[in-house]
Amino acid sequence: MKLLRLILQGFKSFADKTTIEFADGMTVIVGPNGCGKSNISDAVRWVLGEQNVRNLRGQKSEDIIFAGSESRTRKNGAEVTLVLDNSNRELPLDTAEVSITRRILRNGDSDFQINKRNCRLKDIHELLANTGLGKGSLAIIGQNRVDEVLTAKPEERRAIFEDVAGISLYRMRKNEGLQKLVKTAENMDRVKDMMAMLD
Ligand code: ATP
Repeated sequence: MKLLRLILQGFKSFADKTTIEFADGMTVIVGPNGCGKSNISDAVRWVLGEQNVRNLRGQKSEDIIFAGSESRTRKNGAEVTLVLDNSNRELPLDTAEVSITRRILRNGDSDFQINKRNCRLKDIHELLANTGLGKGSLAIIGQNRVDEVLTAKPEERRAIFEDVAGISLYRMRKNEGLQKLVKTAENMDRVKDMMAMLD
């Protein structure tokens, strides 16, 4: 899955609208300490649905909104859009590019969009489930995560292989199906109880 560009506005140190184009081949981001390099990978992680703000090196959700500086007032919201190359229609959408957008306001309001249409976080997880970019994927490895992967439990390591092998979408659907079966069995029990009372 090729990333074409990342558009940030109000996200962490990126107060103004900033577009980063990822050209063919390898892209390397260089700069002095603290200039915002890791904020770029945080933005990719966030737009792909990261729910734990600690994984974005923050304490609370508004920590990802530009907090102001000596010369600039803080921003009221953050918005990140990631544009993916879909020219081979790997994603189940009939557009050559697929954009994923996430927005948050200081009052806590937030939303997701796929191709500029509002959607649920679940839709993003499903869209990306078999691409290697999905939830918990190793497409982005933070400075302290290498050890974590090496010391992962066998079942955690298996989840990594399942994601790479493209079966995690089916696991998600299987779990949803199993939950429905449990609910249906509970409903059946209730119906049986009611029928017994009527007898
Ligand atoms: P290093 O090379 O040391 O790893 P880096 O280039 O990866 O650094 P980042 O960690 O991405 O730098 O960025 C840190 C900078 O981002 C700090 O200057 C910090 O003040 C700024 N920053 C983080 N969150 C916000 C925010 N909400 N508002 C404004 N600035 C922020």
